[in-house]
Amino acid sequence: MSHSGSKSSVSLVIPLFNEEEVIPLLIQEIEAFRNRRPENIQIIMVDDGSTDRSARLVRELTEGISGYTLVRFSRNFGHQLAVTAGLELAHTDAAIIMDADLQDPLDVAGQMIDKWKEGFDVVYGIRKKRKDTSILHSWSARMFYRFFKRFSDVEAPLDAGDFRLLSRRTLDAYRKFGEQQPYVRGLIAWLGFNQVGVEYVRPGRAAGTSKYNWRSLIQLAFDGIASFSGKPLRYAVRLGLIVSGLSIFGLVWVLLIKYVVGTTVSGWASLIFVGFFFGGLQLFFLGVVGSYVARVYDEVKARPRFIVKDTFHSGPEREHSKSEAVSAIETTQP
Ligand code: UDP
Ligand code: MG
Repeated sequence: MSHSGSKSSVSLVIPLFNEEEVIPLLIQEIEAFRNRRPENIQIIMVDDGSTDRSARLVRELTEGISGYTLVRFSRNFGHQLAVTAGLELAHTDAAIIMDADLQDPLDVAGQMIDKWKEGFDVVYGIRKKRKDTSILHSWSARMFYRFFKRFSDVEAPLDAGDFRLLSRRTLDAYRKFGEQQPYVRGLIAWLGFNQVGVEYVRPGRAAGTSKYNWRSLIQLAFDGIASFSGKPLRYAVRLGLIVSGLSIFGLVWVLLIKYVVGTTVSGWASLIFVGFFFGGLQLFFLGVVGSYVARVYDEVKARPRFIVKDTFHSGPEREHSKSEAVSAIETTQP
């Protein structure tokens, strides 16, 4: 259990992507939360390249309230990188990752803070029940968490998203990851420390629509598995061996029929089918291998993972500061 440091300040790290419908309610709920909590609560919103009025609304609605920081990315870099940027900016004793759409209830955030004060370093939310999506979606998410457990070499809790609290020392440890495509919940599980879950019923979005589509969900799932395990590659090797082993038996069988029984095997259709089947399987695993290669390529290029366009601090005397990333870029250009 942690004995070091004080436990009086907490940041809420909130990624935003076209969330104008929900922002007024979000800020209202956050203010109510801040009033009922004894801790000093700061808010870090990361605008992941919204094309709507999200950023303007945040600035307008937090004018005169202290404690809000709005960081704007230069374009959409994705949810996981927005969360990562927010975590890196948090200077408080702990930080909580939460969605903008109030699907991660603030009361549960309060419970996380209480657990942290008991001495835990990471407190994650477990979705006991979901009211937010279709049966198909929540079923496939459940399947994914079990599949991930099987495929990856890290002990990640089942049915937990990114909604979680990190203590100061886990935040400092998280900063050491420089992965191009971070899978936030997996990386946090990887860190170790004392982790504990709190169960909650996940409500639907307060407003607006989901910013994840099926494609980006599948991408997230693959990122998760690929960044924590080479098992898909090992399975490809195993499957390849099994298939070639079986084909030797097949050959023996064919020769026996031809020379012992004396008839030739008919069945062009079945041959074509087998040809297509294995052709497809080879392409599939070539794709699997390729996506690992692509990840390696991404890491080797070592590009900046996100670019911050600008940063706003709310409060009576509002500052507008250019980000370090942007000024660094400007100074290197003539
Ligand atoms: N989000 C983001 N960048 C993206 C997509 C989503 O920052 O490219 C944010 C979004 O604004 C929200 C959170 O990530 O605060 C989770 O997204 P969403 O609620 O759409 O996902 P779902 O809850 O449906 O899985
Ligand atoms: Mg959501």
